[in-house]
Amino acid sequence: MASGDGIQIPSRLPLLLTHEGVLLPGSTVRFSVDSPRNMQLVSQRLLKGTSLKSTIIGVIPNTRDPEQDTDDLPSLHKIGTAGIAVQVVGSNWPKPHYTLLITGLCRFSVTSLLKERPFVLAEVKQFNIKTKVEQLDKLEQYMTPASEGVTAEDGELGKLSHKFYQAAVQLLGMLDMSLPVVAKFRRLLDSLPRETLPDVVASMIRTSNKEKLQVLDALSLEERFKKALPMLIRQIEGLKLLQKTRKKSPDNEKTVLSVRKGGVFPGQQFNLDEEDEDEDGDDTAALERKLHRAKMPEAALKVCLKELKRLKKMPQSMPEFALTRNYLDLMVELPWSKSTKDCLDIRAARTLLDNDHYAMDKLKRRVLEYLAVRQLKTLLKGPILCFVGPPGVGKTSVGRSIARTLGREFHRIALGGVCDQSDIRGHRRTYVGSMPGRIINGLKTVAVNNPVFLLDEVDKLGKSLQGDPAAALLEVLDPEQNHSFTDHYLNVAFDLSQVLFIATANTTATIPPALLDRMEVLQVPGYTQEEKVEIAHRHLIQNQLEQHGLTPQQLHIPQDTTQNIISSYTREAGVRSLERKLGAICRAVAVKIAEGHTVTKTEALSPENPAQRGDIAAPPEMPIMIDHVALKDILGPPLFEMEVSERLTLPGVAVGLAWTPLGGEILFVEASRMEGEGQLTLTGQLGDVMKESAHLAISWLRANAKTYQLTNMVGGPDPMEGTDIHLHFPAGAVTKDGPSAGVTIVTCLASLFSGRLVRSDVAMTGEITLRGLVLPVGGIKDKVLAAHRAGVKRVILPKRNEKDLVELPANVRADLDFVIAANLDDVLNGAFDGGFPGTAGTHTQPQLSSKL
Ligand code: ADP
Repeated sequence: MASGDGIQIPSRLPLLLTHEGVLLPGSTVRFSVDSPRNMQLVSQRLLKGTSLKSTIIGVIPNTRDPEQDTDDLPSLHKIGTAGIAVQVVGSNWPKPHYTLLITGLCRFSVTSLLKERPFVLAEVKQFNIKTKVEQLDKLEQYMTPASEGVTAEDGELGKLSHKFYQAAVQLLGMLDMSLPVVAKFRRLLDSLPRETLPDVVASMIRTSNKEKLQVLDALSLEERFKKALPMLIRQIEGLKLLQKTRKKSPDNEKTVLSVRKGGVFPGQQFNLDEEDEDEDGDDTAALERKLHRAKMPEAALKVCLKELKRLKKMPQSMPEFALTRNYLDLMVELPWSKSTKDCLDIRAARTLLDNDHYAMDKLKRRVLEYLAVRQLKTLLKGPILCFVGPPGVGKTSVGRSIARTLGREFHRIALGGVCDQSDIRGHRRTYVGSMPGRIINGLKTVAVNNPVFLLDEVDKLGKSLQGDPAAALLEVLDPEQNHSFTDHYLNVAFDLSQVLFIATANTTATIPPALLDRMEVLQVPGYTQEEKVEIAHRHLIQNQLEQHGLTPQQLHIPQDTTQNIISSYTREAGVRSLERKLGAICRAVAVKIAEGHTVTKTEALSPENPAQRGDIAAPPEMPIMIDHVALKDILGPPLFEMEVSERLTLPGVAVGLAWTPLGGEILFVEASRMEGEGQLTLTGQLGDVMKESAHLAISWLRANAKTYQLTNMVGGPDPMEGTDIHLHFPAGAVTKDGPSAGVTIVTCLASLFSGRLVRSDVAMTGEITLRGLVLPVGGIKDKVLAAHRAGVKRVILPKRNEKDLVELPANVRADLDFVIAANLDDVLNGAFDGGFPGTAGTHTQPQLSSKL
């Protein structure tokens, strides 16, 4: 143990001025340092020095609060303790500071100050016990083992030191020897020089700073013993009292004393007063109570209590202490048995869903069914609902409404880009920086065990070396397994069976099949123009007005304007960009209204000047109407035009319909031919299936060239003879694949080979076979809606997709003319004005269809 007797400290010492905590020789204390002078001392002296000497500093207690560390130096306490800095830890949070661990060596007094900046440097005089020869001589005779008694000739100092030693032994006897730190001190007590005892013991027992200061100021050994002894005796009395009360409660026969913060042997202090709630040392007791109150399952509680036991034995400076502490805090916070009460009323739910969302009838119906079954059977192990559709069609917002109808908490977990399974299931606690997964985190946030969890974008889960998050989700979503979901961080099972999971995705194609299997997919298709107008007027405009602090009396957006925004400024399946555009209008109007206000104010100041009023823009009349002119002013020139008709002015262009995760799209196919050797070139980022469709189309057209009077560039009977063909699918940056462009390629090439124009208002979709049949394709509703949006009048569809037309809104069906095609004859007939030569009225196999 360090004591000052053998050490010669430098005569010039940098001084650490502390206002809290007193360092006594022989003890180790942790100081937090954040005042400018002290910070400079650490950074310029401690961190830069390389010798042992440079780590010795003087600690001056009882200085004014460093908060008020001004330029002028406060008056310093005359006695300080020289100490050796054994550890320096820097941190930036919550403000830059260092934490120093300092072991006291010996007392000193300041003789003169040498400089004040950047840190205080002083000339010091060391108080060394060895210099007090007479005291030492007296004491040396009593350096006998503890068992030996004291003789009658013992002087006052001898008696005192013996008494003190006995008291220290008694105190240690009352502490729990199973604590390693207590056992170690007991062993050391006998080997410690007696003169160090007052300092060491005073720093360990519960004493106030003022008392410690008294011990520090006691320069003579005798005085020091006299000062410290009453404190020690008081501690023993306190402990006795505590043990008496303890005996009354049967489960605590042994006094377990918590180890106080900042203590590293020999400096730590035993907190003997566990009832004091706000003391740090009592944290563990409070934690234990909280653990019992958390109503966690037996198994979890057992693990927690075991961890708590370990925690109690750990010094706080150990990194594992914080780790275990955080773990236990989380366990206490988790809603093991806290839940909200479901208030399910189907009629109210229906009204709420209808009020929140326009259209989407099929989805609402299925959601109501789901809720109804839940009402009848509370422990429903039903499928997980997964809403699949383009962005902005209200998937998230329906999820939120469901939570509201049930009166449950709502939490959204974004899974897009998650590629590490520990994101879902947490890290094991052995990792540095380990934390629980998103599910457990979500539960901690909502603080109930039956929230609605919206797993957003399950189709965008990634995969990486860190494991497959989809596999981890399987366990979460499987009603058979999720009652014992084990997060790696928690390492005990948590029951997720009360949680209502809803997933959303843009497409099912990228959802791993096993995961898809656990879910019931509900398609949420895009909206028609009319539906969007309704949604805008029933919900979006109102929301945007509120968000921008406007009222309907200030801003009016007529239906035509909304229609114009939808067709000229947005091209989307959902309503998200429509909402943004409406927001832009609100912002512009807010500026106008605010300007109007200032104008009225200035006018009010000079009422006698009405002539000027005409010059300044008069405050707008309310409400401000957004007409087409205003719209152009605010949003700029239209972003999208009805471009279909303009592009079909040459043979060799046709319009197809494609499906993307963002909704339906129209897709142009262009073809041109030139002299060559019968080569086919394809451009526009195409997948393999699309390329095959192009080859199929060419083969079928060549085989039927005679029937349809198709020729090459010089009028020969084989369209490919001496000719190269180039097929291009514009919007090249997007990868396109799938068979549904088959009919479009055939139509486009038929137009090229025959020199006839395809009707400008027709779009088509369908897969083809080599024999000329048209096979069904998916995404009909989205595709037809896209065609409708783009101003197409006629849509050619495979015959077997006819059944999908019922899903379309009546007005769209009324606006469009549908050609149902069983084979390519029907397609060509529908795509060209007045039919196509060689196809009239034929509905049999194409190669038999020739009536020529
Ligand atoms: P998603 O999750 O499908 O991408 P959101 O749920 O975030 O879309 O919806 C985007 C916005 O559109 C929200 O403000 C939502 O309220 C609104 N919205 C979408 N569909 C409807 C609807 N049918 N009725 C009312 N508002 C809707």
